[in-house]
Amino acid sequence: MKDCVFCKIAARTIPAYIFYEDEHTIAFLDIFPRYKYQSLVVPKTHFDSQFSLVSQEVLIQSIITAQKVSRAIESNFSDVLRCTIAIEGLEIPHFHIRIEPYTDNKSNLFGTNFNGVKATDEYLQYVADKIK
Ligand SMILES: [Zn+2]
Repeated sequence: MKDCVFCKIAARTIPAYIFYEDEHTIAFLDIFPRYKYQSLVVPKTHFDSQFSLVSQEVLIQSIITAQKVSRAIESNFSDVLRCTIAIEGLEIPHFHIRIEPYTDNKSNLFGTNFNGVKATDEYLQYVADKIK
């Protein structure tokens, strides 16, 4: 879809901290995290975020990637207690799954405020490199 930010990230026409890619999906860090290591899983092809319309194939592919990402986050960061997922889609109308890692603290990491404000590039690069 022409003006979709997630389609542009998948096509690499705008930059993102992508740390996982397979045939159908990509995963990258949310630059406005509410949780430490918060990440997004996105199908490479545009699918509307209206949940009732998402194909079962896309749903399954995305859920499998979300589990791989959750495992990678839990095994690479010792302060992560568990990851949960959320499926929303009001802000960006391209189906996606948000990975929400729960940590034992909300400590500042490279000056990043985990309150939905833009994360620092230093933090994003550190996390992306560690998950890869
Ligand atoms: Zn899209």
